[in-house]
Amino acid sequence: MTRINGFIGRRNFFRLAGMGGFAITATALGGSLIWGKEAAIADVNSANTNPVNSNLALQYLLDGNQRFVHQRRLYPHQSLQHLQLVAKAQYPFAAILGCADSRVPAEIVFDQGLGDLFVVRVAGNVASDMAIGSLEYATAVLGTQLIVVLGHRRCGAVAEAIKNAPLPGRIGYVVESIKPALAKVKSTIGTGDRNDDAVIANIQYQAEKLQQNSMILAQLLHAGKLKIVGAYYDIDTGKVSAIA
Ligand SMILES: [Zn+2]
Repeated sequence: MTRINGFIGRRNFFRLAGMGGFAITATALGGSLIWGKEAAIADVNSANTNPVNSNLALQYLLDGNQRFVHQRRLYPHQSLQHLQLVAKAQYPFAAILGCADSRVPAEIVFDQGLGDLFVVRVAGNVASDMAIGSLEYATAVLGTQLIVVLGHRRCGAVAEAIKNAPLPGRIGYVVESIKPALAKVKSTIGTGDRNDDAVIANIQYQAEKLQQNSMILAQLLHAGKLKIVGAYYDIDTGKVSAIA
C-alpha cells in the first residue's frame, strides 16, 4: 500500500472510499494509520522527488504575489512541456481555499502555473463539507503540506452576512456559513473597517472549521505534516498578507 503524507495511496483511497464514510474512518484512517503507535506518519509521497514543506510553500506563494504586485510576473509552469509533465501526476505545493470572487484568481495573484496549486473556490471561502473533502484529498492523497484560507477586501458574501437580510435561492446557505464568524469581530479585531474586520474574522473562522470538522486535516496538523494559514487579499493593490 502506498502511503502519501501519512495516509493511503489514491488507489486504496478510492477503494476504501467506496465503502462509505464510516468505513473510511474506521478502517483506513481510524485504524493503524492514525491511531496505532507503530504507524507513525510516513514521509510524503515517495514518488514526489521534490516535496515542498509548508514554510517553503508559503514563501513561494508570497514571492509570487510580490511578482504580481510589482508587475514582474514569470508566468511559471505554463509551457506545453510542463502541461505534459503534470499530466502524468500532480504534486501541488499548496492548496487554497479562496473566494469565488472574479477578482481573486489564485494562480494569477500568486503567479503560479499548471500543477502548482490545488484551488477550492467558493463564495466567502466557506469551509463547507465539499471544500473540506477536496482539501483532504489535496493533503492526504496528493501530499500538499500547506492550506491557505484566502479572504479578500470587500467580499460580497461577507457583506451580505453583515447585512443579515433575506436572500433568494441558496445564496442564504453560503451567507449562513459566514455569520458565526461575525460574532468574533468586535472582541479580536480592529482594523477600523467593519467589512475588513469581518473578512479577517471569517478567514480565521473558516480556517478553524477546517481542522474542527476534519479528522484527516487535524491529524496532519498534529503530526506537523500540514499548516493552515489565513491570508487576506487586497483587491485594490493585489497584495496578499498572511494573517497571524
Ligand atoms: Zn468574496
